[in-house]
Amino acid sequence: MNVLRRHDPHRSPLPLVLDSPHSGTHYPDDFDHLPSRAVVRQAEDTHVAELYADAPAVGATLIEALFPRAYIDPNRHVSDIDPQLLAEPWPDFVTPSRKTELGIGLVWRLAHGGAAMYGRKLAVAEVQRRIADYYLPYQDSVAAALDERHRAFGAVWHINCHSMPAVGYVLSEDPGRERADFVLGDRDGSTCAAEFTRHVADALTGMGYAVAINDPYKGVELVRRHGRPAERRHSLQIEINRKLYMDETTLERNPGFVTLRSNLKQLLEATAEFVRRRV
Ligand SMILES: [Zn+2]
Repeated sequence: MNVLRRHDPHRSPLPLVLDSPHSGTHYPDDFDHLPSRAVVRQAEDTHVAELYADAPAVGATLIEALFPRAYIDPNRHVSDIDPQLLAEPWPDFVTPSRKTELGIGLVWRLAHGGAAMYGRKLAVAEVQRRIADYYLPYQDSVAAALDERHRAFGAVWHINCHSMPAVGYVLSEDPGRERADFVLGDRDGSTCAAEFTRHVADALTGMGYAVAINDPYKGVELVRRHGRPAERRHSLQIEINRKLYMDETTLERNPGFVTLRSNLKQLLEATAEFVRRRV
């Protein structure tokens, strides 16, 4: 099964961990989505793990999901379940969030453009299997990497890596709006020290990028779960505007990919230095 890949540091490790939960492209055989694969793939943060491939060279750990987030989304709470998807009642409590209302909870009900993802209702056992085989191993892997580094250094910095459409589409919170080059999310200052958000914002602004903070993306489950700045556990979400590196229709890299990757390498080097000064 293609669940995840963990890339460990090529040099002495720093307490810096990145994770890319949405760049997976290995579609499981039992993912019988109704819309075409091209439509379903619009949900991916395609190529994001590769954009940060220099992480191990600066001493960071990078964890990437290999499965598609439309199958099961590791950046949702495990109870963020949409009862409308299911053929029978969920046996545990459910706490559907705003994401589930939008059709994009733990298991997505809708594909890009609002089309139904399935031509049938899902059995509880199938969703439970996706949780056990994909969701939990990914969650556990991120938690383990953060815990290891926190144990060794007494602090850890986590970057949760994503990409976003250039323009808010019809089912998003900001339809029709053009997004900044980068959107940083710390859930309104609650998932990391303000200096970490500022460090990343300043580094990107210094390279000429437009950076927005918590607008429209504040960060979801992974930063919420792992960001506890009072315990020196700092989690920040970074959303990259897809137009900087790919064609949003074909999902092919565009000529900007190489420049962006080298700028992200600079960001990683600056962040490694930031972390080194604090441990
Ligand atoms: Zn994402």
